[in-house]
Amino acid sequence: IAIKAQIDGEPQESDFEVKTQPFSLSAKPGSNDIIIKNLYVSIDPYQINRMKTVSSSQKASEFAVGISPGQVIDAYGVGKVIASDNPKFEKDDYVLGLISWGEYTISQGFILNKLDPMGFPLTYHVGLLGLSGLTAYSGFFEICKPKKGEKVFVSAASGSVGNLVGQYAKHFGCYVVGCAGSPNKVKLLKEKLGFDEVFNYKEETDLNSALQRYFPDGIDIYFDNVGGEMLEAAISNMNTNGRVALCGIISEYTSAGKRAAPDLLSVIYKRITIKGFLSGDYMSLFPEFLTMTTDHLRTGKMHVLEDISIGLESVPSAFVGLFRGDNVGKRIVQVSSE
Ligand code: NDP
Repeated sequence: IAIKAQIDGEPQESDFEVKTQPFSLSAKPGSNDIIIKNLYVSIDPYQINRMKTVSSSQKASEFAVGISPGQVIDAYGVGKVIASDNPKFEKDDYVLGLISWGEYTISQGFILNKLDPMGFPLTYHVGLLGLSGLTAYSGFFEICKPKKGEKVFVSAASGSVGNLVGQYAKHFGCYVVGCAGSPNKVKLLKEKLGFDEVFNYKEETDLNSALQRYFPDGIDIYFDNVGGEMLEAAISNMNTNGRVALCGIISEYTSAGKRAAPDLLSVIYKRITIKGFLSGDYMSLFPEFLTMTTDHLRTGKMHVLEDISIGLESVPSAFVGLFRGDNVGKRIVQVSSE
């Protein structure tokens, strides 16, 4: 799957095309190549920032290198090695890491590891046991430094990262309120995932008063996945010494020029910490994250929200749907069965 031209604004399915190129299923001796059959690929909002004409994130981070029209789009996912000239990988190994929105990937092992599924479905390693999980874990525990009983607000709460933040925060002993964009999502988060309160932000005319209603005593922690007006309203409702984990600002990704303008004087007076972070910087937490999350899974404390579509040709619709809130939980495309 490739983009036809740079995408500035809301992405459409017609912005994408399927390209084919000749390809050898054997690894050339001396090439160090690993030939991977892609099984499950991750569909992530940040990819839109790589598709723009000029992107500040493109300049700011090696994690968001720009994508040109016609180019193979690299993406996180799980695959199976079908041939290898690389000493670290063997035929039939499962691998997790940088593969592509394509049927096969030729890799040299960059951001790629062997995967032990540990008895869990492969898709879990794309989402809650993979980077979405690490993002939620590191952002909540390391950036927000929660204390039991604190009041936590999470936006895009039914999304891949957001639902996990809410679940970690509940298990840790916090009071958790989420917002999401449909009545079904609100119901799911309250009834199945155990959030204390959830509201549909699309039904609120004034986000500031909505937050006052749910947090009469203020917010201690805001885990931000959306930026924009929600970030402004959350800052206005933060308590003294509150912490904001700036994980993502999806509401700003597709609207050029839209920028949150929170009340910075209250940030100063209330000594609020606002910290942006990239989960890739917290790989050292991976073992403890994995232990906690697999324990929660095995004891039935953690619910898994996955949203899987089938076939490579569904990648464009899966991707553009993220910006309309079509997904519930981790969006994944199954490219191939084994
Ligand atoms: P999600 O699964 O949360 O999917 C995106 C969701 O965002 C949608 O389902 C939708 O839910 C919501 N949304 C879409 N457009 C808007 C909008 N204009 N205003 C408010 N909400 C909107 O994606 P992820 O969990 O993968 O990612 C969540 C955020 O975290 C993103 O901003 C992403 O870029 C960021 N991220 C950051 C990482 C890091 O290391 N810092 C790593 C991974 C993700 P709804 O129905 O509620 O509107």
